Amino acid sequence: MKTELTLLDRSYELLRYPVKNQHISWQAWDAADEYLIQYVEQNITDLNGLNVHIYNDDFGVLGVWFANHSPIWVSDSFVAHKALALNLELNHLDADSVSAHHSLYQAQKTADVVLIKIPKTLALLEQQLIDLQLCISPKTKIIAAGKANAIQKSTLALFEKHLGITTTSLAKKKSRLIFCQYEGTKKSISPYPTKWKTDTTQFTMNNLANVFSRQQLDIGARVLLAHLPDANHKRIIDLGCGNGVLGLHVLHQSPDAHVIFVDESFMAIASAKMNIEQNMPDKLKQCEFIVSNCLDEYLRTPANDASVDIVLCNPPFHQQNTITDHIALQMFKDSKRILKHGGELRVVGNRHLDYPQTIKRLFGHYKVLASDRKFSILSATKK
Ligand code: SAM
Repeated sequence: MKTELTLLDRSYELLRYPVKNQHISWQAWDAADEYLIQYVEQNITDLNGLNVHIYNDDFGVLGVWFANHSPIWVSDSFVAHKALALNLELNHLDADSVSAHHSLYQAQKTADVVLIKIPKTLALLEQQLIDLQLCISPKTKIIAAGKANAIQKSTLALFEKHLGITTTSLAKKKSRLIFCQYEGTKKSISPYPTKWKTDTTQFTMNNLANVFSRQQLDIGARVLLAHLPDANHKRIIDLGCGNGVLGLHVLHQSPDAHVIFVDESFMAIASAKMNIEQNMPDKLKQCEFIVSNCLDEYLRTPANDASVDIVLCNPPFHQQNTITDHIALQMFKDSKRILKHGGELRVVGNRHLDYPQTIKRLFGHYKVLASDRKFSILSATKK
């Protein structure tokens, strides 16, 4: 993995988080970060003393580069927050030099410069552009960056709709910059959370902007919902819970279950909590909501080892824009650690993925509980 970013006579050591299990060809920054940094350094001469806001900096690279300007830094990803902390420390920068916030934070101080990495989910971008209306002025310099093929007409249309006149740069190393000027009058009403109803139970699912399967039930989740375990009087983790649809149905079918919802997205955890509060308010006291990379935060308490009866998981196969199975692998390893002897990991996975072999390597065996043309439900018990 290339770890040294050298640009404009400055060098930083930068890692992805978590450091282990990353592919050798990946690095913590991309050409769009380099383009954005070069543009800002060469065109905004008086950066000192200006309020800089940074959005969606996946591994804290922009946070590290602009740390001496004490930026406000906003990300929905817990993993991105951990990467920022790691990379500040690695480069001997003060942890407090960057003011890091999760995605539900509304900045109050007017920004002079706003730097945005285009996120994978356009809805998240839209929510952020709406949030920006409260902390920018027509003088604010708004510059976004992304892979050229990720900047579509629909992306630019969001800037035009919520902020104002928008132009783009030439492409450089397959990346592009977006420049936008706030008109000062636009005030939008957020269309998020998006709401939809589950078909059999008629629960209303609220989905904040960055939540997986924001517009409808995921097809993998649908298969798993038909094969939920009996969890009465058991501790069960909904790992990578998204809007919490699996855990909510566990509580519906097993009213005495204790459900721990875990996700790395702050908006996912906020949505899961909202969905219990609104659909089964009396069950709230049986629930915990934890923002974490896999089960890292839960496992920080040694007493939580071997304390759980069931882990349910519809694993992610992306880290930001990269397709990967390293998160699923950590989820399975962490599950083995957290499960009691006799406890069960139950996973839904696309049949072309290698989950059966991975689970077999870890647990020594697996069972296929059900499968259709696309998905399998796999189960493994901790011996
Ligand atoms: N359980 C929901 C469902 O079935 O609709 C969501 C499943 S979705 C395939 C995977 C979820 O894993 C997403 O909500 C994503 O935010 C979360 N996720 C991704 N990386 C993670 C990580 N490192 N730690 C915890 N959760 C993660």
